[in-house]
Amino acid sequence: MTFKELNISEPILRALANKNYETPTPIQEKAIPAALSGSDLLGLAQTGTGKTAAFAIPIIQQLSESFQHGQKREIKALILTPTRELAIQIGESFWEYGKYTEMRHAVIFGGVKQGPQVDKLRRGVDILVATPGRLLDLIQQKHISLRHIRHFVLDEADRMLDMGFIHDIKRLLPMLPQQKQTLFFSATMPATIATLSKSILRNPVRVKV
Ligand code: AMP
Repeated sequence: MTFKELNISEPILRALANKNYETPTPIQEKAIPAALSGSDLLGLAQTGTGKTAAFAIPIIQQLSESFQHGQKREIKALILTPTRELAIQIGESFWEYGKYTEMRHAVIFGGVKQGPQVDKLRRGVDILVATPGRLLDLIQQKHISLRHIRHFVLDEADRMLDMGFIHDIKRLLPMLPQQKQTLFFSATMPATIATLSKSILRNPVRVKV
């Protein structure tokens, strides 16, 4: 299997070639076609399996297809992740895979001044990578609106729960539009995660690696 056979667009194929990725990993092989078709996804996968590209590539590609020059940029994809380190890594992946596209992203997390993050958001981004606490703060201050979200990723859901973010997630979910694609990733599937995933996913394609 090649990335080209997964119907990945030319600008992203070029970016992958730059990174010397030769073939998709198992989760990418399964998740990318499902996500490109617009389906929700339940991915049971650990870090290190290539799961970041499995959600980043279809999001960049779908948003690029509907991108129009001159249109005001709104946040159309939200990636929620538990830690600052993961947020930064995911942001780097969006930059790498999207560098030959028009997509712009921002990364926000707590523990640092919010000024530079707010400035970046003001300049307009399509994709937002965030940890829950800082996201809620900036929403409350009206620096962020989630009403244009079309793609939502819940990354490392089990870790999110372990870190006590369930309350934040439950506050965020009703702020998202009903009509959207949700990609849900967890390394493990305890009962609480299974229940949460059922409550937010619609007919998901299940991918386990
Ligand atoms: P992740 O599971 O998303 O944290 O990715 C783990 C590592 O695998 C990262 O360093 C990626 O750059 C790398 N990676 C992701 N997809 C591929 C691929 N198809 N071929 C080679 N390396 C990859």
